[in-house]
Amino acid sequence: MSSTATRESGSSYVKELISQTVARNPGEPEFHQAIQEVLESLAPVLDRRPEYRTARILERMVEPERVIMFRVPWQDDRGQFHINKGYRIQMNSALGPYKGGLRFHPSVNLGILKFLAFEQVLKNSLTTLMMGGGKGGSDFDPKGKSDNEVMRFCQSFMTELARHIGPDTDVPAGDIGVGGREIGYLFGQYKRLRNEFTGVLTGKGLNWGGSLIRPEATGYGAVYFAAEMLGARGESLVGKVCLVSGSGNVAQYTVEKLIQLAARPVTLSDSDGFIYDASGITLDKLQFVFELKNVRRGRIKEYAEHFPGVVYTPIDPKADHNPLWALKAHCAFPSATQNEIGAADARNLLKSGVYVVSEGANMPTSLEAVNLFVDAGILYAPGKASNAGGVATSGLEMMQNSQRMTWARGEVDARLHTIMKSIHKACWDTAALFGTPGNYVNGANIAGFMKVADAMMDQGLV
Ligand code: NAP
Repeated sequence: MSSTATRESGSSYVKELISQTVARNPGEPEFHQAIQEVLESLAPVLDRRPEYRTARILERMVEPERVIMFRVPWQDDRGQFHINKGYRIQMNSALGPYKGGLRFHPSVNLGILKFLAFEQVLKNSLTTLMMGGGKGGSDFDPKGKSDNEVMRFCQSFMTELARHIGPDTDVPAGDIGVGGREIGYLFGQYKRLRNEFTGVLTGKGLNWGGSLIRPEATGYGAVYFAAEMLGARGESLVGKVCLVSGSGNVAQYTVEKLIQLAARPVTLSDSDGFIYDASGITLDKLQFVFELKNVRRGRIKEYAEHFPGVVYTPIDPKADHNPLWALKAHCAFPSATQNEIGAADARNLLKSGVYVVSEGANMPTSLEAVNLFVDAGILYAPGKASNAGGVATSGLEMMQNSQRMTWARGEVDARLHTIMKSIHKACWDTAALFGTPGNYVNGANIAGFMKVADAMMDQGLV
């Protein structure tokens, strides 16, 4: 054991590192939150593996390998000029090319993208595939923009980003505000600038290199993970009442898989409010949501106007809780955005009988709320484990692109299912190995971290 290692316990070492990281990265609360949640889980690993401390693995992991920031000028349909910020965080490439989504949302800033990139490194490690971690995006808001405006923005964004990415360097995908339409425009501009047709983005259209099941993968994966957690207790999703937030890509396919597995999803939301359909969202009603959100780009309120017996509740921005999380249910699938479940929401969820939480979104649960779930001993899956199906299937899309092959829907879905089972097993086994059986937060953080840390040890001081 090194002298540094004997000097202090893993726990005081990580506390010190958390405060140093907070001080060195001011004004980035989401990044601080992600670092704190992960590092606190890693204290027992550092006690057992002092060489990680000597090699300063954690200090390196909280510092991105590269941060790219750029100006994105574009012109709207009336000829007005606009300037947005563009970013790409290339966080860690120990396990493969940087991989992670692009987010277009007015809330995007450096701290949010660093939290997402940091989480992505551990998540990608859990997938069992060879992918490093990154994240990027812009404070551009696609909402209310015409297709032509979105295209001009994407072309301008890619004109700069193209210099920094490539199929063996960095392979971005979608995230909030970046779906099939945006990936198409981004890919078109990359191809034009580089004069090459490669698998540089994932989430591509099916007829030009995309993978079957990629749009479904994050939502399906979050449901497969919940089924695994229930399975470990000898239960299943059949008949379970499920709360789902969001109504975008992840939420839509979470609902589809829940219906297929005979559960009863009863809610969907957007940033204006949520619908409660006590009789259950059916596949027919979900078709309405697909059309509403992906084609007409309307608001979820219209669901309540269209189907009888559905209650719509607008969001009260001043309230300390979201009434969606106070409805009676068995399971919750937060699938909108970060910190959408605060401490008051967590208490409401526990009170109303929810005992399974499988995160489709990234870090939707505040630290205090996570602790309430863990202390209550419910089945709580952090997003880096339960929503890893999306990036895993992006990895499968990269494999198909490099082989110039297309796998059948059943084959991709079976591989996704196998990956989600293996992530569940890794989290389960690791939590037990480190003395906290059933704690998926510790299991995911430690299992994800150790694979990256070992690769960094092998690759020297870079
Ligand atoms: P999306 O298709 O753009 O949908 C996002 C949904 O969340 C929309 O209903 C949106 O409502 C709502 N939302 C976004 N920001 C919000 C805010 N600040 N407050 C309230 N509601 C908000 O995005 P997505 O791909 O489904 O992503 C959802 C979450 O899953 C994100 O945390 C993302 O990082 C995570 N995730 C996505 C993937 C993937 O493969 N797409 C993979 C892993 C994790 P509005 O329309 O009103 O904005």
